[in-house]
Amino acid sequence: MKPFLFVTDLDDTLLGDDSALKALNRKLKQHRQQSQTKIVYTTGRSFGSYQILAKAKSLLRPDALLTSVGTEIYFNAEPAELDPEWSAILAQGWHREQILAIANAFPQLQLQPPSEQNPFKISYYLCDPIAETIIAQLKTALAEKGFQVKFSYHAGQDLDLLPPNVDKGLAVKLLRSKWQLATSRTVTCGDSESDIDLFSGEENGIIVGNAKPELLQWYQENQRQSLYHAQKAFAAGILEGLQHFAFLPKC
Ligand SMILES: [Mg+2]
Repeated sequence: MKPFLFVTDLDDTLLGDDSALKALNRKLKQHRQQSQTKIVYTTGRSFGSYQILAKAKSLLRPDALLTSVGTEIYFNAEPAELDPEWSAILAQGWHREQILAIANAFPQLQLQPPSEQNPFKISYYLCDPIAETIIAQLKTALAEKGFQVKFSYHAGQDLDLLPPNVDKGLAVKLLRSKWQLATSRTVTCGDSESDIDLFSGEENGIIVGNAKPELLQWYQENQRQSLYHAQKAFAAGILEGLQHFAFLPKC
């Protein structure tokens, strides 16, 4: 058995069907024991929220964990070690205090609690009906001051302001070179628009059967052999994809 790098989103990708998760975990655990395969989770959740979820769902211990929309890479989840190399990449061109001051001047933006903030993520609540207008105004205000910021608006209420270098695909590249695993031995899995970064490189990609319409739309426009749209949902879709790419045997 040859090792591979397995990268997956959690909510509605790995998680959603507990019995399929159990079956997949058994196969992945065995593969890791026998061949040094690496398991990486990526999530929009904060590290604290991940820890609660990991216990509730009996997740396998990951070799690396990418939390808070890609702004943190942890190794050895217990005890957690934040990767300084990734933090240094994100620090380039990121001016948190000045960006925060500009955004705070918008009364429509309500700062989320401290548990949702970190050195490379500023998070607000913003109601859907006015979101488009406010985001456009904020983008203009930041650009006028020369700040480059990535915007992520999701769930009709959460607005994240992120460093220009945040890119889950770039994080996967970093992990690949750290563990010296080829693109052809790497596979990423996701269900939503926020996972597109994971599918934009040369790596193999699995789009689970329950994927959101926005990701399916992107897939229709970007189909290629290294992307697989599974029939099955959640962890069963991941297993189907891993067997399709022959990372795991069919039985
Ligand atoms: Mg998801």
